[in-house]
Amino acid sequence: MKRLIYADNAATTQLNRDAFDAMVPWLLDEYGNASQPYAFARKPQKALADARATIAECINALPEEVFFTSGGTESDNWAIKGSAFSDPDKRATITSAFEHHALLHSCEAIERLGFPVAYLMPTADGIITAKALSGVLSNTTRLVSVMYANNEIGAIQPIKELCDVAHSHGALFHTDAVQAVGHVEIDVQELGVDMLSASAHKFNGPKGVGFLYIRKGTKILPYADGGAQESRYRAGTENIASIVGMVTALKENCTNLEQNRAHIQSLEHKLLKDLCASHIPFVRNGGNHTLPGLISLSFSGADGEAILHRMDLMGISISTGSACNSVNTEISHVLKAIKLDKALAKGTIRISFGKNNTEDDVCAIATALAKTVRTF
Ligand code: PLP
Repeated sequence: MKRLIYADNAATTQLNRDAFDAMVPWLLDEYGNASQPYAFARKPQKALADARATIAECINALPEEVFFTSGGTESDNWAIKGSAFSDPDKRATITSAFEHHALLHSCEAIERLGFPVAYLMPTADGIITAKALSGVLSNTTRLVSVMYANNEIGAIQPIKELCDVAHSHGALFHTDAVQAVGHVEIDVQELGVDMLSASAHKFNGPKGVGFLYIRKGTKILPYADGGAQESRYRAGTENIASIVGMVTALKENCTNLEQNRAHIQSLEHKLLKDLCASHIPFVRNGGNHTLPGLISLSFSGADGEAILHRMDLMGISISTGSACNSVNTEISHVLKAIKLDKALAKGTIRISFGKNNTEDDVCAIATALAKTVRTF
């Protein structure tokens, strides 16, 4: 049987075995509702408190600043809508044109309700500059939201600098760090952000769970009304098993952050070296400061979607861009935003390595890619 080579870790990652094992007891045995007052609810209550404390430790926050959600999409929706609606005197939001659709479509939703949104354009290297932000900030800006690292091209943004500029104009700052948490060090104090979104399935945790960091004292509306869970900010019975799985995965990834980063970066360097050796011309997008292992490559004259399908037939999973975009054959909004030449944009693929990839995977990918691209 053909071996599957998975190189689409920016779309989702394999669940850590330890995370899976940690989840099982909370599904089968300790299934009590953490909101109940009886003894059977004590263990889930403690698991929840421990999970909050561990996440807080991993991102240098306070436990009460961590709010569990159903993932990155919900965290982004909450940050955008919860802040836009929270101050009648400051109704404007600023974001970038190349955010994930979870963020962009949330912004479009508030625009339909009459709340103004400005979209900053990145540089050709995929960077949102402080200068661009300063040009549009005003005293009516409630929130600035710029992603920590772009999910299609991996470009890491100058978050601390952008955050300082936003704060100097009295605006809040949110970052969608879904691609970064568990892969690079995240310190919310150091960054200075008021809100930060994360999603477990991007760092070897389960799908359908994540968190939103909200700095203590930040004025934001609750996401879901109902029960008193999450300090009355996000109602709904807590998904203890998934939360425990998420925390186990995050802790494991954060403990091994440097080791994983070194391994993934060595795979990235090998791929680029092998491709250069094959003499196929390519452009790497995203500038010099990208997430480890997230590689956006453009081959002029090729068709990214055709490359994806041919690689798939060879048992290799890669992406053309954002996973949420895979049914859409149009040039992605990210490649449009960085104004990539059309011929290059059409021939763009995304390879994203994870800690479970090997050198053998890289050899197979480089060989298959060279073979495929030569056919165009
Ligand atoms: N934000 C970014 C940058 C992402 O890459 C993704 C997923 O691809 C999301 C948000 C959505 O996260 P989730 O799948 O947990 O809803």
